[in-house]
Amino acid sequence: MIEDKNPVRTELSALGEFGLIKHIAKHIKLGNPSSIKGIGDDAAVMQYDSGKQTVVSTDLLIEGVHFDLTYCPLKHLGYKAVSVNLSDIYAMNASPKQILVSIAISNRFSLEAIEELYAGMLLACENHKVDLVGGDTSSSRIGMVISITAIGEADKDEIVYRSGAKPGNLLCVSGDLGSAYLGLQLLEREKKIFTENPQIQPDMDGNDYLLERQLKPEARKDVIEQLKEQGVKPTSMIDVSDGLASEILHLCTESKTGCKLYENKIPIDDTALQKAREFNMNGTLCAMNGGEDYELLFTIDIKDHDKIKKCRDVTVIGHITDKSEGTNLVLTGTEMLTPITAQGWDALLSKK
Ligand code: ADP
Ligand code: MG
Repeated sequence: MIEDKNPVRTELSALGEFGLIKHIAKHIKLGNPSSIKGIGDDAAVMQYDSGKQTVVSTDLLIEGVHFDLTYCPLKHLGYKAVSVNLSDIYAMNASPKQILVSIAISNRFSLEAIEELYAGMLLACENHKVDLVGGDTSSSRIGMVISITAIGEADKDEIVYRSGAKPGNLLCVSGDLGSAYLGLQLLEREKKIFTENPQIQPDMDGNDYLLERQLKPEARKDVIEQLKEQGVKPTSMIDVSDGLASEILHLCTESKTGCKLYENKIPIDDTALQKAREFNMNGTLCAMNGGEDYELLFTIDIKDHDKIKKCRDVTVIGHITDKSEGTNLVLTGTEMLTPITAQGWDALLSKK
C-alpha cells in the first residue's frame, strides 16, 4: 500500500485527534482578507463585501467509491479533492476563497500519510489562493472519507447559472475531454495485472498526460480569468465532472432549450484517441460519458464569438437550439443527428 512506502511511520494514536489537528494547523497560514479566523475555534469566521454574493459547494469522496489508494498517491488525492471542489465554484463564475476539510481515517494511516494528503490539499490551495479555514476529524472503520466544502464570492451580476442558455448561443468547452477516463482505464488495467501477478511491474511509459488528467486534475481558474479579460460573461455554465453528455443535458434542461453538438468539434487529445483505440473504445464516447475532466462547459452570446476566439484552450463545439429541436449530436461524416443520452459506463466498452 502506498501509505506504507514512507520509511518513517508515526502512529496517529501518538498524537490523538487534537494533536493531529494542531499538527495540521501548524502548516496553515491565512492569506485572504475575507478569512478572519481559521482553525482553532468552534467555527471559522469570514467577512465578505456587502456588494458580493457568497457561493458554497461541498463534495464527498469515499475510498473504494471515488478513489483507490492502491494507485492514487495521497498527495495527488489531496490535490484532486480540492481541485474538484474549486471547479464547482469556478463553474458559477465565482472566485473560491476558503475551504473546510473533514476527514475520517483509521489507524491504518500514519501521521506521515496524513501529512502527504494535506501537502496535496495545501498545494492546490496555494495555486488558487484559497485558505484552509477548518474542518472536522473522525475515525473510520470502513476506509478513508474526505469531505470538502468550498466557499467563494462573486458580484451578484457576475454569477452564471446553468439556466441561462438561449437558442442561437454558442456552446463552448475548455481543454480536452475523455483523457481522465482513459487514465483511469489504464490504472485499472495495470492494477488488475499487478494483482494477478505481483512480479510484473506496471508499464506506464508514455501515458503521463492521461495519468495526470486522472490523478491531478486542474480547476480552470485560467479560463474564468480569460473570459473576464475578454469581457465575456457566459450565459450558462457547468463543470464537466460526469462527462460531456450528462453536462450538456443539464444545461439544456435547466435552460429549457435544445442543442446541436458537432462530433468533429469535440476536443480530444491525440494520446487519448490512441489509448481509446488500444482499449477498443470509441473516443467520442469516452468524451461524452467518461467524466472527471473538470473542464468548463458554457454558452455565450453569438456577438462574443470573436472574443472567444482569443481565449486559449476554448473550443466552440456547437450551439443552443429551440427546445422543440431536441438535444442532438451531429455525427462526423454522415451529418446524421443522434439524440444525446447520458449513458452508463458500460456503453463505453463497445466500439461504434
Ligand atoms: P469541535 O469539537 O467543535 O468539532 P474540533 O476539535 O473538531 O472542534 O475542531 C477544532 C478546530 O480544528 C476547528 O477550528 C476545526 O475547524 C478545526 N479542524 C478539525 N479537524 C480539522 C481537519 N481535519 N482539517 C482542518 N481543520 C480541522
Ligand atoms: Mg469536530
